[in-house]
Amino acid sequence: MSTTKNSKEKKIETKSSASINIENLSGVGPAIAEKLREAGYSSLEALAVASPNEISSITSIGEATIGKIIAAARDSLDIGFESAAELLERRKSMEKFTSGSEQIDAMLGGGVETRTLIEVYGEFRTGKTQIAHQLCVTVQLPREKGGLGAEALYIDAEGTFRPERLLEIVEKYPDLDPKTMLERVVYIRSFNSDHLQLIVDKLPNFLQEHNIKLIVVDSIISHFRSEYIGRGTLADRQQKLNRLLHKLLRLGEAYNLAIYITNQVMAAPGLFFGDPTQPVGGHVLAHASTYRIYLRKSKANKRIARLVDSPCLPETEAVFLINEQGIQDP
Ligand code: ATP
Ligand code: MG
Repeated sequence: MSTTKNSKEKKIETKSSASINIENLSGVGPAIAEKLREAGYSSLEALAVASPNEISSITSIGEATIGKIIAAARDSLDIGFESAAELLERRKSMEKFTSGSEQIDAMLGGGVETRTLIEVYGEFRTGKTQIAHQLCVTVQLPREKGGLGAEALYIDAEGTFRPERLLEIVEKYPDLDPKTMLERVVYIRSFNSDHLQLIVDKLPNFLQEHNIKLIVVDSIISHFRSEYIGRGTLADRQQKLNRLLHKLLRLGEAYNLAIYITNQVMAAPGLFFGDPTQPVGGHVLAHASTYRIYLRKSKANKRIARLVDSPCLPETEAVFLINEQGIQDP
């Protein structure tokens, strides 16, 4: 990345802004700074990606005051209006890493992109969790081998993460030392939707100290699906899901990392032909995802991935296999 043109970028992306105290923001005196720190908002990034209502409810500082502080934090990180030329420049700092499947990489326009949210949905055993494991390994590959030389964070809502599986997958990549690879995947189990939100709210300070380029949430919907049953609670559920997704998106943007989330399917009622399944989560999820990928089973251990929604890529398909060594080209 060029350092002169992109000085703005550096501020957002690297840890350099960690040296700027939150006290330097207008509206933040020592008392407010202390309250913010206690609540876990100790960096500009943590403030910039938060919402007024979230901080206000924890710190009992008024929403209007918090709103101004957040605006000041975003300002000092240069998050705000920009020209298309600046945006293009910023998009150049997006990075891509391989999924381990040439076909999936090609479908995504060259690999898994940072600053984006990829949602993968499909029926059980279609490979959503397997791809999540695979990406935790490939993101660690050196750049010349298609990786980002970075770490991964795995948020497991279903209890299906298996370090043993990572060890099988890594055998295909002699550039990675298995033991170090395992140490560079940070794992956390979430137990309900509030816990999941809390984990995500705490991430800014954690991300400040780690070189994470991939966050997995497997799955984004399972807690919500089991906790909110019945139509009456749907609006509440969607509001919470929306908050969670936007926080994740803002983290992806502020820390230049990829977000991979999995989603489940439900039968589409009243559909008499075509594929009878559709993703759960409604418009909230559809709007938050940059890329949506639909997985379905094919013959033997083959799977078909279809890019169903993307801002600028055509709707294409990729075929892959799941075997001992992970995700492979057929
Ligand atoms: P769910 O909705 O139940 O979470 P999923 O889409 O996450 O399903 P995965 O767990 O990713 O599904 O995929 C399971 C598939 O991966 C199974 O068909 C299984 O056979 C295959 N698989 C898992 N581990 C291995 C392995 N070590 N060798 C070969 N295939 C494997
Ligand atoms: Mg799974």
